Amino acid sequence: MLVGYSSSSEEDGEPGSEARSRNSRRSVEEDERSRDLPAKKKARTEELDPKTRLPLPGCLLSMFLDDDDEALTEDSSLHGGRIRSFKHERGNWATYVYLPYPPEEEFEELLEELLSTLGAHGLILTQQEEFHLSLSQTVVLRHHWIQPFTQSLQSGLSQCRRFACSAATLKVYCNAERTRTFLGMEVSTGHAQLLDLVRVVDKTMTEFQLDTFYKEPSFHVSLAWCVGDQTEKMKELLQELQSLVDNREEGPFLLRLDCVEVRCRTGNKTFRFSLKTS
Ligand code: AMP
Repeated sequence: MLVGYSSSSEEDGEPGSEARSRNSRRSVEEDERSRDLPAKKKARTEELDPKTRLPLPGCLLSMFLDDDDEALTEDSSLHGGRIRSFKHERGNWATYVYLPYPPEEEFEELLEELLSTLGAHGLILTQQEEFHLSLSQTVVLRHHWIQPFTQSLQSGLSQCRRFACSAATLKVYCNAERTRTFLGMEVSTGHAQLLDLVRVVDKTMTEFQLDTFYKEPSFHVSLAWCVGDQTEKMKELLQELQSLVDNREEGPFLLRLDCVEVRCRTGNKTFRFSLKTS
């Protein structure tokens, strides 16, 4: 799918791209756009000058759209109020690499409590539809890069071993554009192995001249988000929220993540890369 928002979530191939990704790749994309247009698409571009050509009938134009392309909508109400962080263009695929976190029952109960506490303080957050731990920024891939890009990830990640990591500390995150604020749970064990995975992913990113991950990553699973920069307000509540994590009847909650498979979401497609068993 062709839509990019300023954050993470898999629901619609949505993830956010950082403005830097967009800017650093702008010239490459523009070059590619003119070079890659097939003859029939060039005809569509030229057709925009009414003085030189008669417009083609719509039925002919629609014959040449990419199968994977989807219609563009700029209605942010359709995306939960999220703001698109890079311009939609046909053939651009919002892409990110991550470890999935399938939520346990206890996690979901805790999340409900966290959200209702935030709500009582006037902060209405939306729960992530799917939970994950990011291993890359969201970058923009041209459609014809998807295959070599995922192949490069596959060859690097197939050398990496499985491991487990855990998280227990709540932390507030904000995207680069400061259009979305997240409540996340930061990783406490497994940091070194996660850095190894990021090194592999970054290598692929560099090959494709895309942005690498944070120099000092704070690995986390985002639990919920809201629009705008609510960092300060959310930080004021962190202690109260953390006590919900720590003081549970069953003992402190610990998020356990079995890192057995890395995934790459690009538009509405998901690629899976199994990690080595021993
Ligand atoms: P994610 O749930 O992985 O998409 O992360 C939510 C947001 O946290 C993203 O918009 C990231 O840009 C942001 N973030 C801010 N600082 C960091 C950091 N040091 N490491 C990882 N993510 C970060």
